[in-house]
Amino acid sequence: MNQPLSYVHPTANSPWGTYLSQVDRVLPYLGHLARWSETLKRPKRALIVDVPIEMDDGRIAHFEGYRVQHNLSRGPGKGGVRFHPDVTLEEVMALSAWMTVKCAAVNLPYGGAKGGIRVDPKLLSQQELEKVTRRYTSEIGVIIGPQQDIPAPDVNTNAQIMAWMMDTYSMNTGTTATGVVTGKPIHLGGSLGRVKATGRGVFVTGREAARRLGLNLQGARVAVQGFGNVGSVAAELFAEAGAKIVAVQDHTGTIYNPNGLNMAQLLPQSRAKGVAGFAGAEAIADEEFWDLPVDILIPAALEGQITAARAQRLKARLVLEGANGPTVPEADDILASRGVLVVPDVICNAGGVTVSYFEWVQDFSSFFWDEDEINQRLDRIMGNALQQIWDTADRHKITLRTATFAVACERILTARQERGLYP
Ligand code: NAD
Repeated sequence: MNQPLSYVHPTANSPWGTYLSQVDRVLPYLGHLARWSETLKRPKRALIVDVPIEMDDGRIAHFEGYRVQHNLSRGPGKGGVRFHPDVTLEEVMALSAWMTVKCAAVNLPYGGAKGGIRVDPKLLSQQELEKVTRRYTSEIGVIIGPQQDIPAPDVNTNAQIMAWMMDTYSMNTGTTATGVVTGKPIHLGGSLGRVKATGRGVFVTGREAARRLGLNLQGARVAVQGFGNVGSVAAELFAEAGAKIVAVQDHTGTIYNPNGLNMAQLLPQSRAKGVAGFAGAEAIADEEFWDLPVDILIPAALEGQITAARAQRLKARLVLEGANGPTVPEADDILASRGVLVVPDVICNAGGVTVSYFEWVQDFSSFFWDEDEINQRLDRIMGNALQQIWDTADRHKITLRTATFAVACERILTARQERGLYP
């Protein structure tokens, strides 16, 4: 009855293909709500925009930008903006869908959205980066807004880029619209604790999973792929809890020290120029990263990193998905059969959107909380969500990923059913 979407051609391991397979796995647990499940397989709205700018040398360059609102049944769209040369519409669709599931899994009153520009920001000057950001914001301005869709940082975007987005939207609407984006600088209505929130959420869910596995964090060996906003903060918190960060991989290379990397020295170097060449470790081949003897693996870079072949080899007992979509479905099955526990992205990295929600609430009430209050609320919301997901997984004997989808999809489709179809 329903034809597949004509504008993307997903494969089994591509981001949208991975997402569709995750939805198929949850269908048996949705009961009468399964009638509405097709709604999860179709983005509500997908906007493709041309982003032309004048470069510093006078050339005119065009970049392709996207904003996808996957589902708005439970509230305005929420989701980051990614600047990366490999961004595609299909990837942004999958990321927006995972946002729908994530917001519902932690019960935030949001739908899911995501945006991106096909650009390598490392090749742009600061002025060019600002122009790209502002033009993109103007182009997607027709569908974003504090009550419609609220962007946030993702790969290669940060508080400064959010400030430009907020300013551009405000100029275009004649307002000071602090609530149009989250992850802003503190003095523009940003929230304390936001920068570290995603990494903190990875740590909070990881600590709870380790406790249930009987895995002592003291001395536990941790490997982290991606040492940006998410990976570096998670690593720092695990190190503070007594774990040893033995390996880190980023876009510059892979480093390994079985005695543990010195975080205080590695963090400033990685921010300045990446992890390659770090004096306190040996450089190893990128592919060796997946064979290392570790207890906990944190993929915190890009999608599709844990392939079936890598899933067969990796030694970790616990995988904490800081990144979105790092594990392909076939690898998921292999990890489950090997008894490796995976805390899935849709709950593991939900700390960022949770504190983004706090930021948005604070912007609307113009009343700001202190960092302790934010961290305590974050711990409580993520702890409760994980508990409910764990109970669902135990009840149906399913993986944490399918359980998270079950909890989330029940909320999304109940809202869909109660609203009914318009007209
Ligand atoms: P970031 O730009 O701060 O860092 C990305 C890191 O990945 C960098 O260290 C980069 O060197 C590394 N990397 C890029 N390509 C790589 C490759 N091919 N191999 C190895 N490493 C590579 O991005 P981030 O905000 O930390 O996001 C990382 C992941 O977490 C993404 O999947 C993102 O969607 C997800 N995420 C981010 C947030 C957030 O609040 N920032 C929230 C939820 C999920």
